[in-house]
Amino acid sequence: MSYLKRAWAETHLDRIKANVENFKKFLKPETELLCVVKANCYGNGDDAVVPYLENELDVNWFAVSNIEEAKHLRDIGITGEILILGYTPPEYAKDLTDYDIIQALTDESHAEELSKCSPIGKRVRAHCALDTGMTRIGVYENTVEKACDSIERISKLSGIQLEGIFTHFASADSDAEDDINYTKKQAEQITAVADELKKRLVVLNQIHFLNSAGGVYHSTGKSSLARLGIIMYGLKPNSSLEVPFKLEPVLDLKACVSMVKEVNSGVCVSYGRTYTTQKPAKIATIPVGYADGYPRFLSNKGEVLIHGKRAKIIGRVCMDQLMCDVTGIDVKVGDTVTLIGTDGNETITADDIADIGNTIGYEIICNISKRVPRVVYNNGKQIDILKY
Ligand SMILES: *Cc1c(COP(=O)(O)O)cnc(C)c1O
Repeated sequence: MSYLKRAWAETHLDRIKANVENFKKFLKPETELLCVVKANCYGNGDDAVVPYLENELDVNWFAVSNIEEAKHLRDIGITGEILILGYTPPEYAKDLTDYDIIQALTDESHAEELSKCSPIGKRVRAHCALDTGMTRIGVYENTVEKACDSIERISKLSGIQLEGIFTHFASADSDAEDDINYTKKQAEQITAVADELKKRLVVLNQIHFLNSAGGVYHSTGKSSLARLGIIMYGLKPNSSLEVPFKLEPVLDLKACVSMVKEVNSGVCVSYGRTYTTQKPAKIATIPVGYADGYPRFLSNKGEVLIHGKRAKIIGRVCMDQLMCDVTGIDVKVGDTVTLIGTDGNETITADDIADIGNTIGYEIICNISKRVPRVVYNNGKQIDILKY
């Protein structure tokens, strides 16, 4: 098992275990864990992570964003429940039944179309989305009665097997009072719809609305599943709000130094000459760039770790390479550079990088491109390499 020591990511399964176990402590006994494994497990590598979740952590529920991701999980042998959180065009109804996948319904017309396209004698298993404040997908009605009318009609469609309803929080990761009230209202709305449907004898196995932030800050047994995403991968839902346990970021991003040189004062570095040395300096070139998903907004702003020390990125981040100031650090070609992760006493997290670019850690790890092999570790031992 080898890979090019240029730029690579390391996915640490034991850290997933720690994050999952900590998160589970917040769940009520009525709530079962669902792991959100969309987008290649937020860039962490689904081929390694999902089998680990199913076989080692006994997770029974998985969620993905689309039918291709869902089929891929079946193709690699996942047998647990798979829920597609986004829209699937009706012409894929046969794939949904063939692969035994649960589909989110975006609204009643989506349900009707899927029902029409379902293979003869089969029903598409479904969870109906309910829009309680995201204004994204879901049955969108201004009264509980009307929402229930729509869901009740969906439950009677001949090609649909309605097994659940769910909604999604818009701001569960905030501690602002109006955001907290908004989240509470969303939870109350879906609970009211669930109660009314029960009165109407519409049987649902699952009513769910907790995400990572919801599970930690708004846990309730009224949600039968908690859809755990970002916290499983060791990042915060909101970088300015603490999670009440120690998160272990699962993915590290590393590279090897490709060149080291001493330069004089007054030397320009990288495209656009946005950086000029103010004194003699030692510069290292690192073969990683925005084509690897390492953000260009880190130009003249980011840092990397080399031999446990911080080195500033100087000049623009290029497509495949970047330069940093390693003056005073003992560096040679081939030395390991940590772009995300810990080296000695220093750590750079995806959340730290996100803060610099005014974005979220989610985007940083999801964007690590398929040019970067994922080297999989468990308890410090390399067990797999995923190449794309
Ligand atoms: C992505 C997603 C999640 C997971 O969100 P996190 O904030 O990563 O926990 C949960 N539910 C839905 C509907 C999603 O789209």
